[in-house]
Amino acid sequence: MIEHNPIDTGLWRAGCSVTGTSGSEGGPRKRTDSKDRQRASARPYVVLCHTRQEAFEVKDRLAVWLAPRGLVFNEDKTRVVTLDEGLDFLGFNVRRYDGKPLIKPSKAAVRRIRERLRTELRSLRGSNAQAVIKRLNPIIRGWAAYYRTQVSSEVFASLDQYLWRLTYKWARFSHQNKPKRWVVHQYYGQFNKARQDRWVFGDRKSGAYIHKFSWTRILRHRIVRHEASPDAPALADYWAWRQRKVPLPINKTTQELIDAQDGRCSICGGLLFAVEDRPQNPHEWEQWLANTRQTINTIATREPSTSEEAEPRLVHAECRHGHGLAPHNAYEPSGLA
Ligand SMILES: [Zn+2]
Repeated sequence: MIEHNPIDTGLWRAGCSVTGTSGSEGGPRKRTDSKDRQRASARPYVVLCHTRQEAFEVKDRLAVWLAPRGLVFNEDKTRVVTLDEGLDFLGFNVRRYDGKPLIKPSKAAVRRIRERLRTELRSLRGSNAQAVIKRLNPIIRGWAAYYRTQVSSEVFASLDQYLWRLTYKWARFSHQNKPKRWVVHQYYGQFNKARQDRWVFGDRKSGAYIHKFSWTRILRHRIVRHEASPDAPALADYWAWRQRKVPLPINKTTQELIDAQDGRCSICGGLLFAVEDRPQNPHEWEQWLANTRQTINTIATREPSTSEEAEPRLVHAECRHGHGLAPHNAYEPSGLA
């Protein structure tokens, strides 16, 4: 039903809702049906077609599929548009540029994150640099993690510039009697040793710094296997595999530790990250990053037989507490988020 090949003219958007229909149609239902319905109702669709005609045909077929599930189209949210016009969908904008369809963060989404950053920094006036870093990093990494699968490089770069201005304003506000040069020296430097960038905002005391949007690598989307539906129980392994293939939005050092430990806690041997339930939007990524920071720690372990330097290991925070081990401070500034 949904074409995989590049799109020609028609583009079609549908929102679908259960308004006034929940369970009232078609008599008694099995439990699975209602679960099915909830899932379908919560999900907006985009269907890309070759022609406008085709778009309407697909819409009719989808209506037939929805009906036994007690669902109807929300006509107010259903539109047929051309690709040149484009549309916003789940924070993305789909549009054709010079004959090529591209997916980018939508203007509204960019406006929202800018507003969020501005509000956060204003509320952080009077706090110290470490508080700023701690608050902003999950927001930045979470947003970048969600949008990294599409054409986001330009947007990432412009957000970094915007954030630079915000932090500079914050720093100037914090030290109104100090000259500009002092403020710059105090808060900006090459805090991230892996980057040739002197304009990273950081805390001189702890070495912690703000992550840049543009440090998050853009990932190429893997095309979903033909006819693979996320609702098909037989394909659960396929979808789990797809999820595992998506790299986590964490720093390189941590990723190397995860790989070396095969994704498991070096105390209890259990998985560090649940494979299922990967975040589905920027907010969930932000929460995930903040939680992970709490639930996963780095410790230093020393093999009893050797006198070599202690090696960092990732463990569950709970396991670390249970064994009364101290966190590995050297790794704290970069952390997971
Ligand atoms: Zn553990």
